Amino acid sequence: MPVKETTTIEVGPVSAETGEVARGFLNVGETATGPVQLPLVIVNGVEPGPTLCLTAGVHATEYASIAALMKLTNEVQPNQLRGSIIAVPIVNLHMFAARTPFTSPLDGVNLNKIAPGGEGSISEILARALFEQVLSKAQYHIDMHAGDFGEMLLAFAGYSLTGNHERDLQGETLARLWTPQVFCLAPAGTGLPPSPGFVAYAGARKGVVSILAEAGGNGGLDDADIRTHYDGVRNVMRYLGMIDGNPQLRPNLLSATGWHNTRAKRAGLLRLKVSVGDKIAAGQGVAEVCDVFGRVVETVRAAKPGLAMLVWSHKAVNTGDPIVRCWSTKPAGPFAETDRFGPGA
Ligand SMILES: [Zn+2]
Repeated sequence: MPVKETTTIEVGPVSAETGEVARGFLNVGETATGPVQLPLVIVNGVEPGPTLCLTAGVHATEYASIAALMKLTNEVQPNQLRGSIIAVPIVNLHMFAARTPFTSPLDGVNLNKIAPGGEGSISEILARALFEQVLSKAQYHIDMHAGDFGEMLLAFAGYSLTGNHERDLQGETLARLWTPQVFCLAPAGTGLPPSPGFVAYAGARKGVVSILAEAGGNGGLDDADIRTHYDGVRNVMRYLGMIDGNPQLRPNLLSATGWHNTRAKRAGLLRLKVSVGDKIAAGQGVAEVCDVFGRVVETVRAAKPGLAMLVWSHKAVNTGDPIVRCWSTKPAGPFAETDRFGPGA
C-alpha cells in the first residue's frame, strides 16, 4: 500500500493528520445566546487521492440527507481511504434546533438562494465561510438535500453547466453515478436546479465539481432515502478511487430537460390522486378540491405530461398553489465516462 507523506488538513481549529479523523466546530459569528458554528468532520486518508466535500443541512429539516452524511462519516475508515473527506453534517444548526424549513430562523434567509454568500446578514456570512474555508479545499463536492416540510420528492441529482468542458464532464459523471434514475444538467438561465444562489451552482463556478443530491422529504427519515444518499455518495467515492470497488451505473437513467407545475384554480380541501414517481398524462386528474361544504369544485388536471418529481403534501389549498411538479425527461443516452460501469459491475 503506497503510503502518502504526512499531510495535515485544517479547517479553522479542526485539523486531521494523515490517518486521522477529527471533529469540531468552526465559529463564523454569534447570537446573543451563543456562537454560530459549522460542525466539521475531517477524514484524512492514508493514501493519496482527491478531497471530497460533503454538505448536508443547508436546509436542516431535510433529515434523510443529514442522517446519511452522519452514517458515512462514522463508517469511513482513514486506513481504507484514498484522499480525504471534509464533511459538514448540518450546515445550518439554528434551523436544525428550531425545526425551521427553508429559511434560517435568525434572518429569514434561504442559504440555498444566496450562495456563495457575502457580507450581509448571518446566512450570508455562514455561506461565505462555507465557501472560503471549507469548499475551497475540495476538488469535488456533493450538497445533500431532500424535499423540505410539505414536499414529497423523487430522488435526483443536479449539476449546473458552467461551459468549462472538463468540469462539466466530471459534473455529469458524478450526477449519473449518484442518481437512482433522474439527473438534471441545468443550463444557466433555465431555472432548473441547481440554479443561481444554490450552493452547488456557486461551487461549480468556483472550480469545484459540485453536484446537488436530493432524496427524501416531508420531514421524513426513511431508511430507503438514507440509503439512496449513502449509496450515491459511496458510488461517487468508488469512481474517484477513494474506496475500493467499481461504481454501479443504474439502468435506464433519465435526463431532465425541463419541469412544470400544475396548480389549483379553486380553494379548499385537497385529495391527491398521484404520487411522486408517477408518469402523468396531459389532462390527467391529479387532485380534487372540495369547498368548505365538502362539494367537489375542481378536478385539477395536468397541463402537460411528465414524471411527478415533487408532490406537495398539504391538505388545504388556495388559488394558485402548486399541486404537483413534473419533470420532462429523455433517455440519458450514451456517455463514455460512465458507460463502462454496468449494474452490479
Ligand atoms: Zn434543500
